[in-house]
Amino acid sequence: MVHAVPLGSDFQEGLHVIDDAQTGAYGIIAIHSTAPGPAIGGCRFWNYDRPAELAADAMRLAAGMSYKNAIADLPFGGGKAVLLRPSTDFDREAIFRVFADTIDALDGQYITAEDVGTTVADMRLVRQRTRYVAGLDAQPGRAGGDPSIWTALGVFEAMKTASDMYLGASMGSLTIAVQGIGSVGLRLCRLLKNAGARLVIADIDVARATRLALDLGATAVAAEDIFSVPADVFAPCALGGVLNKQTIPRLAAKLVCGGANNQLADECDGTGLLERGIFYAPDYVVNAGGIISVAAEYLGEATEQVRERVSAIGPRLRHVFEQAEREHSAPNLVADTLARQRVGARRLKAAA
Ligand code: NAD
Repeated sequence: MVHAVPLGSDFQEGLHVIDDAQTGAYGIIAIHSTAPGPAIGGCRFWNYDRPAELAADAMRLAAGMSYKNAIADLPFGGGKAVLLRPSTDFDREAIFRVFADTIDALDGQYITAEDVGTTVADMRLVRQRTRYVAGLDAQPGRAGGDPSIWTALGVFEAMKTASDMYLGASMGSLTIAVQGIGSVGLRLCRLLKNAGARLVIADIDVARATRLALDLGATAVAAEDIFSVPADVFAPCALGGVLNKQTIPRLAAKLVCGGANNQLADECDGTGLLERGIFYAPDYVVNAGGIISVAAEYLGEATEQVRERVSAIGPRLRHVFEQAEREHSAPNLVADTLARQRVGARRLKAAA
């Protein structure tokens, strides 16, 4: 069963609820804007205690995609799918088939790809039932494949810029604390290791963190301890809301730059970081590499165009930091203002 729930306020385009008793598929496709083009954004497959939490996450993530796509100058609006990962045995393929049919019924309003808990294999399955999907296997020279490779590269480039600006140091001399060693976190760790950085890592999957620590020559710590380990940079690469009133006072790093979406629990937490003298690289400015790849794949573009656009992430972050310094403002507020202006301008242009 699919219900469409139109919303007012900033949420212009509505929510599409998936609720299929037969397969247990439950989730939401949140479409924040389609003004510049179809809403594009990944699919999260995660466990939530309550449907309201899932819905809130979907809406916030979808709005974040509008901002991210506008800042990265991609001809797409913002959307996101969040599917509930059942706590008991489930038929993954059946759930993703229902998801694919829901996307297809939206007739191109929403294009999906990978996010937390989903893989290229899931997207391959979705592709069997709808064409509105990217993050599929890459063809030589063409954009495509697992977007996390590009997300990690963009974060790495952003971290180099930020370290150069605020730590006056190259990556090889830094200690980086990485939270969440999944698709993005692991690829980021590999880039950092190659650059000579020391790594401290944590994941709620303790066995995974222990195994990857050996592999990466990193130190693994408990998930709760990653905030306070002595490090130059804290790189959140797990879930959202991790920078909040409880964690900010515990942070030992001077710089926050990571791949996770919606890192700040509240926009005023960006000011909280600034007041502690911690430089925050706004998440959707630095983690746009994946959606740049997904968008290029959908448009049939070449890998070279992805590389070129991802290499613009560092200079874009520098611009945000410099404006924040001039305005004595927190970098997240500067990025939000730029993004809102662009999203608004795109809506006006589409309406004209
Ligand atoms: P993933 O599912 O592959 O990895 C997430 C990892 O975080 C898992 O290993 C999980 O066990 C771990 N984790 C969850 N909660 C944790 C906690 N409290 N402490 C420590 N570890 C924890 O997901 P991913 O694709 O790597 O995405 C990671 C983040 O990056 C998400 O916020 C996602 O929205 C964002 N992101 C991903 C992409 C992409 O290309 N995949 C693009 C942009 C943004």
